[in-house]
Amino acid sequence: MKKASAAAAPREACGLLLGNGDVVARFTLCANVADTPETHFEIDPAALFAALRAERAGGEALLGYWHSHPSGDATPSATDAAMAAPDGKLWLILGGDAATCWRAGRSGLWDRFAQVPLIGA
Ligand SMILES: [Zn+2]
Repeated sequence: MKKASAAAAPREACGLLLGNGDVVARFTLCANVADTPETHFEIDPAALFAALRAERAGGEALLGYWHSHPSGDATPSATDAAMAAPDGKLWLILGGDAATCWRAGRSGLWDRFAQVPLIGA
């Protein structure tokens, strides 16, 4: 994930977190199709729908999303809060050498993100 983030800079890298329960088994790297990928990310909808289809077919669950902040700040931005649905999905954010993980809901940072510990990262 860090390598992909460094390679994408100064654009944001992004992708999906897949696994079961609270355990992220793997991540994917997706195209960032945002109009301004230097400051925003939008996961390639085709990749998103493919993951949701696979989950419905009994495959790995879509647990959430990850993206990088080329600015180096690994905390969710106001833009992230505006984009995030309060759906319980994980948001993992990389900035510089740091990574933080959050669950999207209706409280916490920006009234949207509750921080969750990263274990084994
Ligand atoms: Zn962000």
